[in-house]
Amino acid sequence: MPTTHPLPAPVARRGHFAVVDPATGEAFDEAPDRRPDELDAVVGRAHAAWRGWRSDPAARTAALRAAADAVEAAGGDLAPLLTREQGKPLAESHAEVARTAARLRYFAELEPGSQPIADGRPVRGEIRWRPIGPVAAIVPWNFPLQLASAKFAPALAAGNTVVLKPSPHTPLATRLLGSVVAAALPEDVLTVVTGREPLGARLAAHPGIRHVTFTGSVPTGRAVAERAAASLARITLELGGNDAAILLDDVDVEAVADRLFWAAFRNCGQVCMAVKRVYVPARLHPAVVEALAERARSAVVGPGLEPGTRIGPVNNAEQLARVRRYTDRALADGARAAAGGHRLDGPGYFFAPTILTDVPADSPVVTEEQFGPVLPVLPYGSVDEAVEAANGTGFGLGGSVWGTDLDRAEAVADRLECGTAWLNHHAELSLAQPFAGVKDSGVGVAGGPWGLYGNLQPFVVHRPREA
Ligand code: NAD
Repeated sequence: MPTTHPLPAPVARRGHFAVVDPATGEAFDEAPDRRPDELDAVVGRAHAAWRGWRSDPAARTAALRAAADAVEAAGGDLAPLLTREQGKPLAESHAEVARTAARLRYFAELEPGSQPIADGRPVRGEIRWRPIGPVAAIVPWNFPLQLASAKFAPALAAGNTVVLKPSPHTPLATRLLGSVVAAALPEDVLTVVTGREPLGARLAAHPGIRHVTFTGSVPTGRAVAERAAASLARITLELGGNDAAILLDDVDVEAVADRLFWAAFRNCGQVCMAVKRVYVPARLHPAVVEALAERARSAVVGPGLEPGTRIGPVNNAEQLARVRRYTDRALADGARAAAGGHRLDGPGYFFAPTILTDVPADSPVVTEEQFGPVLPVLPYGSVDEAVEAANGTGFGLGGSVWGTDLDRAEAVADRLECGTAWLNHHAELSLAQPFAGVKDSGVGVAGGPWGLYGNLQPFVVHRPREA
């Protein structure tokens, strides 16, 4: 049933801000609201700590391995706290903690080494890699720990120090993670600062920062790029997505329906690389809509800490309002909800898993990033038409093609304008792969060795060859 349940105003002590449990809509704790003028001291200490941290690669490897062990050991505290402030089912929080530890371990073992320059000149040239200095890491609320580690693990492994700013919607698990990791490192090598804007904007513009690595929405990414331009700091931007899944006419609908559904609805659809649009041959459209709608109706929605919950609440009130806005607009424009379509009655930011059909192709729920538990399913006539529609937004993060003939599916995937494509799957990433969006979805490359080099600068030495 639709509801107009009022959203309570959170409260916190002076110098702090409230942290809301999205399953209740009520504040349950608070975090320090650091003032932007405190950043000078924080960045200054990160700079001082850099001198020691950059000089001993073996000690770095040992410290990052110890940090990974410590994160794993703290999983029993980190995971429930993450679920409390973020909303996701507890099992997904445990998986996020495990991924965070795995990433620390992966980067602990990566070394840039040095490379000779072989160009036939009578000079011996060698490329060496040097750390660049304090890194600012700014992350969103959908995977607070995992995305934080995607920033700090490569930056620290490269020999840089890090100032990490989590989203004000999810500061608590990150603070705990920060203290667990920092305890395995020399002082001030990793610092977590929590606070509300303009803290992030000031951090991005801070003259002591040499690399701003940001994950979040496209508009904020643009603002961060502008701020970082002031000090000409390097930028890495991992931004929004609006991934399409194209089903081909030889797809086995029942065989793929579960995987397709969860690729769209995991973490309540709040995944940058979630399937956010499905394109289906017109002949299969009714069957696909029904297969997905049936799963949407039967998925267990509830507080993430409750056993059995598969889909938690939307993370925050603004995001819930956004999801409602996109859905209401689509319904007003003639779409039909085959499942859901409304907020769930009661407290908390719950929205019914929603499958939309008869959606106008230019509806914002199709062309923009709604980032919630809503999935439009659109029929197509020819594969060319589907590819054109999939590529027809400003985003280019990921995409997938689903069918029985994998060669044919791969040929279609090859035409997608994005950074990662999957066949009969979506949003599974390797720690060892480059991660990069095209068009508005990002600038720079994260992940794998590319993520390490993104935190290093080349230093080249030329010396004459001995006679
Ligand atoms: P957001 O852009 O609103 O906020 C991201 C971070 O930036 C937060 O820490 C926020 O406090 C901070 N921030 C806000 N204004 C700022 C400013 N002017 N300067 C500097 N920092 C500022 O994003 P969100 O709503 O927290 O997260 C959802 C978005 O993140 C979606 O668009 C999603 O697609 C994207 N995302 C992308 C990836 C990726 O890898 N490409 C991964 C996860 C999420």
